[in-house]
Amino acid sequence: MALNVTLNNDAPKTQVGDTLLSVEDLRVWFELKRWGFGHAGYVRAVDGVTFDLKYGESTAVVGESGCGKSSLMKTILGINVPTKGDIVFQGRHMSKMDRSELKWYRSQVGYVQQDPYGALAPFMTVERILEEPLIINGIRSKSERMERIYKVMDEVKMSPADDFLQKFPHMLSGGQQQRIVIARAMIMEPKLLVADEPVSMLDASVRVEILRLLRNLQEQHNLAVIYITHDLSTVRYFSERIFVMYAGKLVERSRIEPLVQNPLHPYTQALLEATSDPDARNASIYRELPPGEPPSLVNPPSGCRFHPRCPQAIQGLCEVEVPPEFIPAPERMAACWLYK
Ligand code: SF4
Repeated sequence: MALNVTLNNDAPKTQVGDTLLSVEDLRVWFELKRWGFGHAGYVRAVDGVTFDLKYGESTAVVGESGCGKSSLMKTILGINVPTKGDIVFQGRHMSKMDRSELKWYRSQVGYVQQDPYGALAPFMTVERILEEPLIINGIRSKSERMERIYKVMDEVKMSPADDFLQKFPHMLSGGQQQRIVIARAMIMEPKLLVADEPVSMLDASVRVEILRLLRNLQEQHNLAVIYITHDLSTVRYFSERIFVMYAGKLVERSRIEPLVQNPLHPYTQALLEATSDPDARNASIYRELPPGEPPSLVNPPSGCRFHPRCPQAIQGLCEVEVPPEFIPAPERMAACWLYK
């Protein structure tokens, strides 16, 4: 169900400053092994992705299931190890971080999962859930931990906190559980929040509240946000820029409004056109996908990976040569031979 975007039509207010995060030619390949025969190829989940994110900037990453957006997210979170390329955070290369630096890095990147109930340990109280990252990160004073817990509970509108701190996750509604997931993501006061479809498993009635909460936190804390979603209806509200992924690659990068008004890449055009809603900003990718299936990431098509589905493919070129990133307008990138 697409969300009606009537929350706030103001442009997102963020301060654009120095670069917080750089993703440099990132590849995340998973080796396939055939029983008894050893190496059987690679799943090229992320295959040469490059972008920068500034302090306080929010970027949405959209694409069909299996496009690589979740693998990209897990690599930024430090869960997946890059096969090639690197992630640079506040000038520090992740590949060169030692254990204590990785611990610091993880404390600076909050993670909001898709499924709040699955994300919360069922045997822990809310207080224990919020206290754990503080203990892991060396905050020894109980009073300091409780001070932070009360502050973050207030920020996620779970107040009075004493009404919730001794409850277990199953005693909370889905919306309350997601507020606790957000509180846990915020408790170390991170610079970057990675939100993986944060409202897709919630009732429509609470989606707006959770999106509004995330937006308020972003503004209050000058948070950079990577918002992973398949639902374009929430993107414009929440993000300044949008990255479109297809088969492990970024195929278009743009600010939101120019992309909605004039999508460049044929895949982005198909995503926006694939809706009966006259307002393309309310499009949901899954109402109707472009014809054909997303390709195998083990044996992706040669040349442009979208060419078997592309109505504008240039014969003799698109199926042979991989399109580089063209910049047809300021702050716009399209990996497509049409913009050579
Ligand atoms: Fe279509 Fe060719 Fe552009 Fe790929 S490079 S999207 S096949 S026109």
